[in-house]
Amino acid sequence: MTAVSNLAQQLSALEITQKSDESHAEVSRLLTKFAAPNPSKNKPPLPSKLALKSSTSSLKSSFLNSSQSNTKVLKAKEAALSQKKVDIGTYDGGLEADDHGHVSVEEAPDLALDSSKTANPTPNWSLHNFDIGRPLGKGKYGRVYMVRTKPPTHQYILALKTLYKAELIKENYERQLRREIEIQMNLRHPNVLRLYGYFHDSQRVFLMLEFAGKGELYKQLIKLGSFSERRSAGYVYQMADALSYLHSKHVIHRDIKPENILIGLNGELKLADFGWSVHAPGNKRKTVCGTLDYLPPEMVLRQSHGKWVDHWALGVLMYEFLCGKPPFEDLEDRNGTMRRISRVEYTFSSKIPPEARDLIAKLLVLIPQNRLPLTDVMVHPWVVNNMPRSCRKDESQPGTSSSEKVKEEKGR
Ligand code: ATP
Ligand code: MG
Repeated sequence: MTAVSNLAQQLSALEITQKSDESHAEVSRLLTKFAAPNPSKNKPPLPSKLALKSSTSSLKSSFLNSSQSNTKVLKAKEAALSQKKVDIGTYDGGLEADDHGHVSVEEAPDLALDSSKTANPTPNWSLHNFDIGRPLGKGKYGRVYMVRTKPPTHQYILALKTLYKAELIKENYERQLRREIEIQMNLRHPNVLRLYGYFHDSQRVFLMLEFAGKGELYKQLIKLGSFSERRSAGYVYQMADALSYLHSKHVIHRDIKPENILIGLNGELKLADFGWSVHAPGNKRKTVCGTLDYLPPEMVLRQSHGKWVDHWALGVLMYEFLCGKPPFEDLEDRNGTMRRISRVEYTFSSKIPPEARDLIAKLLVLIPQNRLPLTDVMVHPWVVNNMPRSCRKDESQPGTSSSEKVKEEKGR
């Protein structure tokens, strides 16, 4: 618990606005603001793609005053409204099927994510507040479902990630999860997956996550083999923007790779999986973490590391976007990969054009401090000349994200 309170102290030093009383209503407000695109000013408010006001109930009350002859009209209206609802798919019963045993608060105090004990409480939420839809995927510790919040809250679509406490304990992951929650809950950036809230029962911890409608970036990369320069440049810009934001909050992600990036409904990237992230104001750390292909030389060599690890990983990511495999990959020999990383030994595939090579070479630099700053990445000629215009921050409308407007290209 001391470590947790240390962490809480560190977090309170974050230059991020923290809400001391994040109540049920507060989360609803957050959802209203962020989970649903605002309707256009000039048009009458339509139910947005993801948010639907529960107008059926108001219809019902008006029904009480109406005559029998209105019944048909009302039924037609209700039918039309229910048709407009986003289809969240069919629940597979997975939450009831899985039983990993109950865990008491005493057994796992770090997982007692109670309003009274944490910096960002989200009291009153429970599984009863959601209609559960289709499974979105399976994580290490449980399943992820597409869900809709039930009335009287406005109805919003979210991804609900479940993590079994018994599994978390087995892997000794409690503190890391707590860290993940504390960090991600305080981040607000269009290219960082939003964590709106959390709650727990005796078996599970539930994370209320922003729904990334287009799924995993990794799957896209596998499907297409590699991405076009246009698409890659837009993605590199968005990642540089997201990382620059994180670093300004003294948060290092440390696990940048396609598997940890999701795609939003408008094709914009959403950085997720903050399990390895740290809030490290000023200090350098020695834990070796992350996936081998994306590890920087300082981690391979077990030297101290800082925010520059994310710059390196961005270089690896860009390389992989353009040619479909990471630069230091050695499928036969892990030590071979480590050796190549520590010597910055890689070759450019012919798929990577000269301007892109210049940027990659400026990120894959042995001395961490000599890696290109993220703000320079965003204005590098390859990025500027290739990324879609709509991607640029200055092109965006006030209140909308630059990246939210990025449209995915067809095919590559
Ligand atoms: P792993 O280590 O296997 O990645 P994990 O515990 O990190 O597991 P996640 O990656 O968060 O689990 O979730 C598993 C899958 O669920 C993802 O690969 C993705 O397909 C889906 N998923 C997770 N979060 C979301 C989300 N917010 N929106 C849409 N799909 C999601
Ligand atoms: Mg994951």
